[in-house]
Amino acid sequence: MKTVAVIGAGPAGLMAAEVLSQNGVQVDVYDSMPSVGRKFLMAGKSGLNLTHSEPFEQFVTRYGSRRKRIEPMLKEFGADDLRAWAQELGIETFVGTSGRVFPMNMKASPLLRAWSKRLQNNGVTIHTRHRWIGWNQDQALRFETGGGEKLVKADAVILALGGGSWHRLGSDGAWVPCLEQAGVKVAALKSSNCGFDVAWSDHFKEKYHGHPLKSVVLSFEGFRQHGEFVVTKHGVEGGLIYACSALIRDAIAVRGTTNLQLDLAPNLSRDDVLKKLSKPHGSKTMASHLEKTVGIKGVKAGLLREYLSKDDFANTAQLAEAIKNLSMPLIAPRPIDEAISSAGGVLFEELDEHLMLKKLPSVFCAGEMLDWEAPTGGYLLTACFASGRVAGRGALKWLDKS
Ligand SMILES: Cc1cc2nc3c(=O)[nH]c(=O)nc-3n(C[C@H](O)[C@H](O)[C@H](O)COP(=O)(O)OP(=O)(O)OC[C@H]3O[C@@H](n4cnc5c(N)ncnc54)[C@H](O)[C@@H]3O)c2cc1C
Repeated sequence: MKTVAVIGAGPAGLMAAEVLSQNGVQVDVYDSMPSVGRKFLMAGKSGLNLTHSEPFEQFVTRYGSRRKRIEPMLKEFGADDLRAWAQELGIETFVGTSGRVFPMNMKASPLLRAWSKRLQNNGVTIHTRHRWIGWNQDQALRFETGGGEKLVKADAVILALGGGSWHRLGSDGAWVPCLEQAGVKVAALKSSNCGFDVAWSDHFKEKYHGHPLKSVVLSFEGFRQHGEFVVTKHGVEGGLIYACSALIRDAIAVRGTTNLQLDLAPNLSRDDVLKKLSKPHGSKTMASHLEKTVGIKGVKAGLLREYLSKDDFANTAQLAEAIKNLSMPLIAPRPIDEAISSAGGVLFEELDEHLMLKKLPSVFCAGEMLDWEAPTGGYLLTACFASGRVAGRGALKWLDKS
């Protein structure tokens, strides 16, 4: 019987293991952690966003410049296939108001439990606490284990080692030098779907960290979206920021710092805001006038005070302008370990259409360790599952030939 070693027991690796084990191959899955799918389980903590229900044509645009390589994988296994696959495991899904798709109970653990059971029934053997550290001269896989180094030979290998964020969940990017030593080109891992540092005054950050800025419109270069984000001690994070974090990160890399624009009163036109603010406010302070006329208070008002001089805050025209178009300087992306995902990874030019490394025939790569990124919304997991299937099928083809 042919053997395949799958290294990395996240969504991509387990999906490759499933495809292989359903086709008469002995599959051994190795992971450095004491249990499988830790990042997947973490993703379920805040509501597992498995995929998105938008039309395929729109879905594939989420992968930006990597669309060309991701699209064929999604054609093999896209959002609907993923939902059907989850249903087979007894997990019903639903479409949320935003079009995002979640399991009925929002969690990852029931799905992972059912999946692990099915993999075991298919004969897949899981080896936890096995950290892959490269190859020896005989091309055997080297693993660090509690009982010392272990060498493994397999007819094919799937690497599904994840990106570089949240390293305590297992994916720490330590695989990068192992592949580089083998001559494989890897784009440096960097934060994706991340927050940014802002030079808040002590007063502002003490008073408002943890406060959500709800219902704002964020504009940055060609990006313009309505939503919300959160003020943190370091700066800003949350859905609306993540949605344009790749653009902001790349602008900062080129220019050093950059500014995003905020509309703090998206339901009012600039003229409306000015008209309302221009009403006489007698002895009332500008702060209470602001709240009464345009409904701006709390962290939104704090933000205006943070960026406007005393005189500008008291000047109706300047204040109206800032409410509709407040410029917020961002200094740097937050460290990769805090990011939801990472960009960078194994370059697609290093891989054939089956995700096999051209320089290392019989070795396939899948998941977040490849050089692509996507916003949150289920696009990350969908492409990880899809690439796991492509790599699994690729390995089957390779084994057939060899
Ligand atoms: C807080 C959070 C919430 C998220 N929510 C969502 C969401 O709702 N929807 C969505 O689409 N995406 C979400 N994501 C992203 C998603 O979880 C990841 O993109 C996905 O898990 C990546 O899958 P993967 O299989 O490529 O890698 P991983 O899931 O990272 O798995 C890689 C595995 O490889 C193992 N490994 C790494 N190095 C070695 C080594 N040297 N030897 C042995 N084993 C090794 C790791 O232990 C790990 O188990 C979220 C991420 C985070 C952090």
